[in-house]
Order: sequence, then structure tokens, then C-alpha cells
Amino acid sequence: MERFDTYTYSIDTTDYSPISTTQASPSRLSPTASMPITSSSNELLSGLSHDLFSKLQPSLRSVFLSAEQYLYMQDDRLDYVYFPETAVVSEFRTLDDGRMVEVSLTGHEGAVGFLPLFCHSRVTNCTQVSQAGSAIRIESEILSKMLRLYPELGNALAPQVDQYVRQISQRSICNMYHSVKERLCTWLLLAQDRSGKQTMKLTHEQIARILGVYRPSVTCIALEMRKKKLINYSRGGLSICDREKLEESACTCYHELAPAY
Ligand SMILES: [Zn+2]
Repeated sequence: MERFDTYTYSIDTTDYSPISTTQASPSRLSPTASMPITSSSNELLSGLSHDLFSKLQPSLRSVFLSAEQYLYMQDDRLDYVYFPETAVVSEFRTLDDGRMVEVSLTGHEGAVGFLPLFCHSRVTNCTQVSQAGSAIRIESEILSKMLRLYPELGNALAPQVDQYVRQISQRSICNMYHSVKERLCTWLLLAQDRSGKQTMKLTHEQIARILGVYRPSVTCIALEMRKKKLINYSRGGLSICDREKLEESACTCYHELAPAY
């Protein structure tokens, strides 16, 4: 069966480079990287009251997240919390033998690194950028302090915790019971919703890692989907050609995980 068609992937730690406005190449940073921001397209931040946003504003920084860049590795001490804008970030759970599967996907609707902040714990899973783009980040210690000072900030950001737990729960069901093709369709829809891009930079290898399957399985399914004109892909990336048909081919998890769209 397709879902047992697993493959061993290892994390290349040479790619592990937590971004920093001081360490990253200037070309990777937005022009406002060293300056406090005035607004954000991240829905959690834009949904804050003016008063709450103004309290956070001096500590918020705009950064560029590169494709396939690791933000955290498993058991890392939390350094920053990220609020993606155009970037899309994947969280992976890994086994000791290197096998891994994506357990959550976050874009402009949420935040990354939020749960450890409440638990005062280390990062549970490794986290990698799936689609390059912009994000707003804040030092975790500062945000933690702000949450203690202003309980209303915790109330405003709490829906992210609920959203995160719901996604983890749904993905565990999805990974167990739904076919690779259904999961691929669902993931493509979720990723496009979050990235807002018509064409996403994706490789079969990357999709296989996300779904926790052999790359040839992805290639075979993607070929079939391209023949049916659901998607198209080239070296430039992958685009969704017929969203309606893709939704019909996706599992019900898509609608469970995309209530805001
Ligand atoms: Zn599913």
C-alpha cells in the first residue's frame, strides 16, 4: 500500500542555519530587516488591537526565510518566534533512523515556535522553510515577557495554539489513513493557500520528504496528475492548473485544515 512506501531521509545539518538579521546575507533580508515594522500581513499580528500591536512593534523585525532553511532542530532552545507573511514553514517529526514526515504547515495565518513559548520547553520538532518568503520575527524571551505583562496578548494569540493542535491531530489521521495521492493533493492546496503563489518552488524530493514516502511514488503520482491537467511542473516549479479537480482529489482533511479560506 502506498502509505507504507516509506523511505529514509536524513537531515543535512550543513543546511541548518537559523537566520539572523546579523548573520544572514544582506541580499536575503528585506529592506526593513533592521528596523521595527509598522504593519504586517500576518493574520495573527494584523488581528491585534492597535494598543497590543504598538506594544510588540519595537521588537518585531522583518526577515527573509530561504527555501529549505532550517529554523529549529529538534530539542533546540527556542530563540525566535516567527510570524510568516509570504513564507511557508513545515514542521517535521523524525525517527531515530532518519525517517521523517511533516506534521504541520504554517503560513500567514499562524506563527512558528509558539507552543514551546507557553510550555517553557525546548522545540519539539525540526522546522524547515518550504516556500521562501518574508516573515516577522521576535525574540522568544521578549514575547514571553510581553505575554506575562499583558494577559490580553495571550488571549489574542491563543487561537494559534488551538489551530496548531487541530492541525497536528488531523495530520496524524491523514498520515495514517489517507492515500499518498490524497495527501499530496491536500498538501498542494494548503501550501498554495498559505503561499498565495500560483507557481511554487517544489521538487519531487521535497514533496517525498514532506509526505514521508519514496520519491518515485511522488514522481509517479505527479505524472498522472499532470496528464489529467490537475497540475503542471517544470524546473521552474509546480503550479495548480485545475483547483476544483484537485479539491475533488484531495482528502477531507483539506477542508478541516483550511477553515479560513
Ligand atoms: Zn487526509
